[in-house]
Amino acid sequence: MSPLAPAELDAGATPEIVLRWTYETFSRVVIVASFQAESSVLIDMASRTRKDVSVLTLDTGRLPQQTYDMIDRVRDRYGIEVQVVSPDATDLQEMVGTHGANLFYKSADLRRLCCDVRKSRPLARALHGYDAWVTGLRRQQAETRSQTAAVSADPEHEGLTKVAPLAGWSKDQVWAYIRDHELPYHSLYDLGYTSIGCAPCTRATTAGEEERAGRWWWEQNEVKECGLHWTPDNRPLQTTKGSKNE
Ligand code: SF4
Repeated sequence: MSPLAPAELDAGATPEIVLRWTYETFSRVVIVASFQAESSVLIDMASRTRKDVSVLTLDTGRLPQQTYDMIDRVRDRYGIEVQVVSPDATDLQEMVGTHGANLFYKSADLRRLCCDVRKSRPLARALHGYDAWVTGLRRQQAETRSQTAAVSADPEHEGLTKVAPLAGWSKDQVWAYIRDHELPYHSLYDLGYTSIGCAPCTRATTAGEEERAGRWWWEQNEVKECGLHWTPDNRPLQTTKGSKNE
């Protein structure tokens, strides 16, 4: 199959087509998995067509035990290696030494510093050597993600292409795929979580709350993003102070 232009991919191509295009277009592709529901779908779709699926995950050091269990379940089911990426030990020591282990509760700036040290910097290092990375972002997850393209150049990681095959999918489509294919999924969903990150920064949501309302729930008027997929410079929408995603 000859590669489709990214614009055509965004015009309603299925996730399977986007993934196939990605693997045919780039030689070094990695799925960056958080082991939420979208990761289950992407790893399954990729594994159906290839044996050499590369998966990496960011072990922030503060993940819930259930995430480590989920990593093992995926490894066992697909027989794939999952590259577990840790923060730089010196960065971590400096940050915790200066601000304490629970700095994220003190201010939004310190929370963003923690996300930078534990997530963004390790990801930037881990992506060296790859041409494209695949993420589970969906437009419906949050206002900050509403402009997500299926394929885009990644200004945060120079030279890399960022691929979001599920950009146009709803939560219901993700869960229908998981059910139809009997995929393993993160067990915290059964306890009322609708988005899952680090243990101290995630809680279950209640009926009527937005999907990412359980992330950094104590913050008011702050963007519910860690910096992996959003920076003030590429803010996709003008948001109003006080909205959930501001
Ligand atoms: S989610 Fe919380 S613990 Fe995890 S990196 Fe961000 S601030 Fe730190």
